[in-house]
Amino acid sequence: MFLQWDYETKPDNCPLCGGTKIAEILYGLIRPTPEQHKEIADGKWIMGGCLMHPKLAKWVCLTCNARMYKPYDKNNPKAY
Ligand SMILES: [Zn+2]
Repeated sequence: MFLQWDYETKPDNCPLCGGTKIAEILYGLIRPTPEQHKEIADGKWIMGGCLMHPKLAKWVCLTCNARMYKPYDKNNPKAY
């Protein structure tokens, strides 16, 4: 069963488990600064690597690993 959730902005709660630990997924080649390492440790965001898919998840639940998507953003076409 494939579930997908779309959000315009970062959701406060996971649609699957209700958890509040939602991290943003950043793609591309990233070399985190010490400050960013702390943010990753705090669960603010994770690195998604540089894989290119037609549609990439924007956020992930750190509790159940559910993926949340942002609908196509015409203001930022390079993201897709
Ligand atoms: Zn969840």
